[in-house]
Amino acid sequence: MKRLKKTFIIGLVMVCAVVSMMFLGSLGPKRAENAVIPEDPPAGITDAPATEKSREPVFPPPQDSDSALPDGDAEARMPLMATPHFAMEEYQCDCAGYCDGWPCVVEPELLEKIEALRCYFGRPVIITSGVRCEARNEEVGGVSWSFHKRGCAADLYCPGVGVGDLAAGAKDCGLNVLPYYSSGYIHVEI
Ligand SMILES: [Zn+2]
Ligand SMILES: [Zn+2]
Repeated sequence: MKRLKKTFIIGLVMVCAVVSMMFLGSLGPKRAENAVIPEDPPAGITDAPATEKSREPVFPPPQDSDSALPDGDAEARMPLMATPHFAMEEYQCDCAGYCDGWPCVVEPELLEKIEALRCYFGRPVIITSGVRCEARNEEVGGVSWSFHKRGCAADLYCPGVGVGDLAAGAKDCGLNVLPYYSSGYIHVEI
């Protein structure tokens, strides 16, 4: 009986030892994980801001470069603005090379009043004829005394606004107006 008891006890101890080893073994990794986790947060904390910081700059640069590219293109395309809504080139002579596009300067008063007209309706105004050289003026059948040749006149229309309303608005802006109802545009001059 004693031997049996001893063997039983030994067996029990061994079982306990095995179980405890398994338990410790199972604790081991957990402790290791627990030991790693405390290390992670600092690493995570330092990483998180780092990734956030690295993300923050990542977004702005594309935006900057995106906005910078159109700006660069806009600057390249429109080096000179006549007024806030009109590029100077919109007023240049549209002949096929009889002149360099600028047979005369456009009167600032005309530019300002057409800008005022654009703001009056709050809609884009399309200039179909600004300044004209002699050849171009003859080509389009303009009168010999045309104000287009002196930078004092422009032909224009405003999509969505009738010729009558456009003419009335142009008069309100201080322009002398000659409406061309059938053609859908008005001639304005100062
Ligand atoms: Zn010309
Ligand atoms: Zn005209």
